[in-house]
Amino acid sequence: MQFHIVTLFPEMFDSPFAAGIMARAIRGELVKIQTHNLREHGLGNYRQIDDEPYGGGSGMVMRPEPIAAAVDQVLSAHPGLWRILLTPQGELFNQSIAAELARREHGLLLIAGRYEGVDERVRQLVDQELSIGDYVLSGGELPAMVIIEAVTRLLPGVLGNQASLEEESFRGGILEYPQYTRPEVFRGSAVPSVLLSGDHEKIRRWRQEQAIKRTRERRPDLLAKSSRG
Ligand code: SAM
Repeated sequence: MQFHIVTLFPEMFDSPFAAGIMARAIRGELVKIQTHNLREHGLGNYRQIDDEPYGGGSGMVMRPEPIAAAVDQVLSAHPGLWRILLTPQGELFNQSIAAELARREHGLLLIAGRYEGVDERVRQLVDQELSIGDYVLSGGELPAMVIIEAVTRLLPGVLGNQASLEEESFRGGILEYPQYTRPEVFRGSAVPSVLLSGDHEKIRRWRQEQAIKRTRERRPDLLAKSSRG
């Protein structure tokens, strides 16, 4: 799958994808990540990409023409990409949106804003607007990375153990059950005996109950949305 990012800071994408599962997916050519420097489409001698807001107010707003030029250039070489604008005003990104995006076979084009955000007319250029949470970051680069990583780990062949996807938090709309490894007792706290019993059916039932209990305690909003509430 291809990920293209239109950004003022392409260098930000180097190290986050240089380790772990992302690096392996890139090496194995399961994903390709390509940045496109917005500055190259800036206007005039100074390659200007922002301007003062009409109507006054603080800060600078990103002009639509450089973004449109960058998007057109990427799309002419890679038609069919699903275009996403990163914005705190977008639809809240979650696991089911990640799964939908993982099925976009042509790949994704992500537009990272900066400053006070983008001119309203940039919205016409995209298929979807996504936020990664109800807080404001300085740019869309970190949100783009979050989305790329969440989508990549859902692609076939990326995780060594596909089964781990089946049980992860948010799969089926609930959190994952508690996990334990060695030692059997840590600072007076013992591993639940059912996990040592070797009875797979009992363990499966215990995990299911714990997942629901944990979700009820920590994220009742998820249970209300799922059929298990
Ligand atoms: N003035 C804008 C507002 O209030 O909606 C915020 C602009 S923010 C400082 C600059 C850029 O960071 C945005 O254009 C967007 O690309 C990105 N950004 C910030 N927070 C984000 C979030 N929670 N999700 C996605 N993108 C975000």
